[in-house]
Amino acid sequence: MIVWNPWHGCHKISEGCQHCYMFRRDEAFGKDSNRVTQTKDFHLPIMRTRSREYRLTYLDNPIYVCLTSDFFIEEADPWRQAVWDIIHYRKDLQFKIITKRIHRFNECLPEKSVRSYPNVTIVCTCENQRTADERLPILLSVNAVHKEIIHEPMLERIDIEPYLSSGEIEAVTCGGESGDDARICDYDWILDTREQCVRHNVAFHFRQTGAKFRKGKRLFYIERSLQMRQAQKADIDFVPVTEEERNPYDRILRFLSKSPYMTAFTLPPDMKEYCRKRDMKDIERQAYELIRQKLAPACPKNDGYQTPKDGHPVFIAQHAVAACSRKRLEKWHDIAMGRKLTEREIIYIVGLVMEWIRRELAKDDTAPTENNLSS
Ligand code: SF4
Repeated sequence: MIVWNPWHGCHKISEGCQHCYMFRRDEAFGKDSNRVTQTKDFHLPIMRTRSREYRLTYLDNPIYVCLTSDFFIEEADPWRQAVWDIIHYRKDLQFKIITKRIHRFNECLPEKSVRSYPNVTIVCTCENQRTADERLPILLSVNAVHKEIIHEPMLERIDIEPYLSSGEIEAVTCGGESGDDARICDYDWILDTREQCVRHNVAFHFRQTGAKFRKGKRLFYIERSLQMRQAQKADIDFVPVTEEERNPYDRILRFLSKSPYMTAFTLPPDMKEYCRKRDMKDIERQAYELIRQKLAPACPKNDGYQTPKDGHPVFIAQHAVAACSRKRLEKWHDIAMGRKLTEREIIYIVGLVMEWIRRELAKDDTAPTENNLSS
């Protein structure tokens, strides 16, 4: 994890700051954490090595900004524009700005539009429900390109569904508190946040357990060096499902729609009626039967002529998706002729056929009618 601290020092602002790591570390060195000063790393992203290469490269992404302070702290107001400029200059680097002071975002904007900083993610920290309800509406309202949430240290179960449902939040990270006085982090809270993320298809990352970790009725004391590893072991991170994974047939149907021959096929009203009167599972069963019989053998009889152009919705769909013969399967789907279809290939073809039928049926639901046309 690469950290860039252009300034150091902060003031405690909410419950999550109570055992701030930076304060604890400074105290050990007799340093005043409330004094905010520039650091020697102020220009880190544009500093070069002796061989004139940048010290930070895209391989270091993402760069975490201000972990021993807050990017939006008042004392840094005179220095912040220089940092915005550095961030703008190093477009190849991804910067994650972590803050508990999202309320100052609009006072601390760069001279250029904040939309011209696609390499910046604003990460709002909220440790409990109170801070979530105070800060997240502000996070949603600001004009940043990328937005994330961190619950670290997570101090209680936190409901963030109203904010996730906005579609603006890209990721949520959870973690416990470190140090001798650490407050307990409960695994159920972590799982609850994960569930919220899964429901809204938002990335979720369990970063570390913290020093006192409760799982069920047991309380575990976990050494700092093991806190990240234990979280990793839980293996509960969630990666959002892409549009293509949601509907794996989207891309291929878009590709096939370039063929005038295939787009000429539509499901006539009697066939739609046939589908609507039946359970779609029955149609799917019929599709499996027809594909297994007429397409699956290594050398189907009369290949190229085995699928009529009407008489059953599956026949019409097969023509519309280039799955009516082995020749067309090879040409459009790269499925070789001269060998038996595999089970995976049969599942793929039936899925495609059924998706086409579903889309044809849905067209009626969205087509304008006399009743739903506005005047
Ligand atoms: S905002 Fe962050 S750096 Fe500042 S006191 Fe709180 S936890 Fe520490």
